[in-house]
Amino acid sequence: MQNILEIEAQSILPGSEDVLRAQGIMSSGDVDDRIIELVEQAGKIFNSLRRPMGMFTRISRDDFREIYTGSGRNDNETPVADIFPNADHLSLFAVTVGVEVSLEINRLFAKNDFALAAMLDSFASEAVENCAQIIQDEYHSSLIAGKKGSDDLVSMRYSPGYCGWHISGQKKLFEYLQPGKIGITLSDTFLMQPLKSISGVILTGDKKIHIYEDNYPCCESCKNRSCLQRIERLKQSA
Ligand code: SF4
Repeated sequence: MQNILEIEAQSILPGSEDVLRAQGIMSSGDVDDRIIELVEQAGKIFNSLRRPMGMFTRISRDDFREIYTGSGRNDNETPVADIFPNADHLSLFAVTVGVEVSLEINRLFAKNDFALAAMLDSFASEAVENCAQIIQDEYHSSLIAGKKGSDDLVSMRYSPGYCGWHISGQKKLFEYLQPGKIGITLSDTFLMQPLKSISGVILTGDKKIHIYEDNYPCCESCKNRSCLQRIERLKQSA
């Protein structure tokens, strides 16, 4: 069954610390007033234009295998390839903050207002991540409400374009999920429009399926190692 949700706007607004971190500023302690003003200005613009939407659709392991295989361009070994066969529940998902925010970012860049454009871009990136977390939580709660999951199960999301899952995987994912219903389309180069959108799969199972070593072929060139913090948190959770 397909679930489409209008996401409550206030719940996706990022804190200024998160926006500054996305800009590479790790501590807001001694940040110039002008930067703080830019964060506030970006927040006001975002708030006036955001239209957050999300959707998820449960999928069988076999159907996901076909989507994941895509056109055969994934790395030979990837985290998702190892995790999904052990997942108890799977769901495709997509979220967006709406087209107006992306248009405004483009407009600001086009008129050379780089500082505000970049700040709004960071603000929107953090907000769309918050949208994805809300959809993941919503899906996880629906499993528990339907007695298909327990508090012991852990849901995590994974997206084409990351960790060895080739970006071209978006094609089959879009054909199955139909994110056009919430205003997201796919270009010939597999980029989503609006740009501030996220799609992928939520895999749910015992927490140990999401714990892996960062020694896949894709890890060799990975700069941010974003999985490590998440895996550490999982290891330490009860
Ligand atoms: S190290 Fe990088 S490429 Fe490897 S699994 Fe983690 S996030 Fe993905």
